[in-house]
Amino acid sequence: MRWSRTLIDTLKENPAEAEIVSHQLLMRGGFIRKVAAGIYDYLPLGRRVLLKLEAIVREEMDRAGALEVLLPILSPAELWQESGRWEKYGAELFRIRDRHDREFALGPTHEEVITDLVRKTVKSYRQLPVNLYQMHTKFRDEVRPRFGLMRCREFIMKDAYSFDRDEVGAEKSYQIMFETYQRIFKRCGLRFKAVEADSGAIGGSFSSEFMVLAETGEEGIATCPACSYAANTEKAQGALPDPSQAEAALKPRELVATPGKHTVEEVAAFLNVTPRQLAKTMLYDADGQVVAAIIRGDREINEVKLKNALNAVNLVLASPEQIKAATGAPVGFAGPFGLQGVTQVLMDDSLQGAVNLVTGGNQADMHAVNVTPGRDFTPTRVLDLRLTRAGDLCPRCGKPLDLERGIEVGHVFKLGLKYSEAMHAAFLDEAGQEKLCVMGCYGIGVSRIAAAAIEQNYDEFGIKWPLALAPYAVVLLPVAPKDPAAMAMAEDVYAELQAAGVDVLLDDREERAGVKFKDADLIGFPLRLTFGKSVAENLIELKHRSTGQVEMVPRSEVVAKIKALIQAGI
Ligand code: ATP
Ligand code: MG
Repeated sequence: MRWSRTLIDTLKENPAEAEIVSHQLLMRGGFIRKVAAGIYDYLPLGRRVLLKLEAIVREEMDRAGALEVLLPILSPAELWQESGRWEKYGAELFRIRDRHDREFALGPTHEEVITDLVRKTVKSYRQLPVNLYQMHTKFRDEVRPRFGLMRCREFIMKDAYSFDRDEVGAEKSYQIMFETYQRIFKRCGLRFKAVEADSGAIGGSFSSEFMVLAETGEEGIATCPACSYAANTEKAQGALPDPSQAEAALKPRELVATPGKHTVEEVAAFLNVTPRQLAKTMLYDADGQVVAAIIRGDREINEVKLKNALNAVNLVLASPEQIKAATGAPVGFAGPFGLQGVTQVLMDDSLQGAVNLVTGGNQADMHAVNVTPGRDFTPTRVLDLRLTRAGDLCPRCGKPLDLERGIEVGHVFKLGLKYSEAMHAAFLDEAGQEKLCVMGCYGIGVSRIAAAAIEQNYDEFGIKWPLALAPYAVVLLPVAPKDPAAMAMAEDVYAELQAAGVDVLLDDREERAGVKFKDADLIGFPLRLTFGKSVAENLIELKHRSTGQVEMVPRSEVVAKIKALIQAGI
């Protein structure tokens, strides 16, 4: 492709709303443009990256024996009602009505639609196992669409669904997908880790996420340096390294004035205690019911664990009005005793055995001291509601856990009978007996990978695409397009590389050399051939974007050299 014939629109400045590097560089490099929050156009460069990704995913899925299908984006509410997810999916499901007032969903995932297809087409054990996949647009009304392609409302996903005769078969299908995902992410040139995960709205008994390791990742990963344990902090059950100790003497509860003291640190310093002696009372709205979650002052509530414990569909912090009704006080002073209309009081086990705690006083500018669980309030349940953090103890081997950050690019689930039971996806076994299909499902965030790859591969000048994902492998850069010798050589090399099947872009613009170099670095082509003064000596400069390494290559060897580098994956 010739630069002058394609549509590349690079920007000099970072767009104001782009907070993370991948978002900035995708915008500046002319890969994407924003249409609305979480909704993007893919320009020709962006589309090429997506196509590269899709080709890798497709090749590996096909190699694993999965079959490609294409399911509709629009699906009728009735299918979602059958599985129970019309209600359960909550606000993230885009719902629309047709002209006859019938309700539909814009697919955020396709368990219902695929289970419906399989129950209509699979009749006999002879047709199993089967793994069906597709690659297309998903819709999710995310609370906070952000970070460019990381968290969109419309995005590209590869989703696959396996159907097996029994548990043993389902386990095998899961393992095949697990290995396939490892091959896919390796081929994409990513540094990643598979971790145990919460199954969220998809459900099922067990799931693993594939995390691209990056500082900007939204997910926390607890890893054990001593054994192989690795889990999303949403799910990780690190044991407390410092359990609370009961003091001998219980003291009477009292209210004390704490004017202007709001945070745990401020209150602890004012009362001359450590944050561990505080208990935080968090009030939530769980599907319309107000519930309390109590946790030690130095720890944080894990809302995923809380939501699972309550079996809630929607969990949000209680409103100021709800807090006032429950505590009688404004926001910031809730305590666990004397709560009105609170249906459940869940206490984190960090407070197991703790006595004489400092809590909110249920009055403005007041805290309570010497509050003791069991005496001053009775938790409905005591359980692990904590966000795991570094130093907590590995649930497998007891060694202290490390914490890393990651971007979730893939998720594999064991679904069991969740959907086949609800929607009756059954087959006849060898004995002519009806059995339910055992399912698994497997997602890859194709468009998110493009962003994740950048978070791992960039410098101050721009993107350093892994070869497998680059929009073009090589850019040819004639320094002075008016220099006929340099231009002629660039044209010849361009024609030869094209004939050799190399993805090559010829920068034929009449631009200053500085502009061309800047754009090439920003867009991040893995290889750059510069046709400058040394063309007179039949030499071309080859620069590797990822390492900055530069070498002079004789004209006669340049095509073979580029082909060899590409073959070797550079
Ligand atoms: P997250 O926890 O990030 O919201 P999820 O667990 O909801 O992800 P899945 O339902 O497992 O995601 O979807 C499969 C894959 O699709 C994810 O692993 C992720 O890579 C991608 N994905 C999910 N939501 C989005 C989104 N809003 N924008 C872009 N990609 C997404
Ligand atoms: Mg999600």
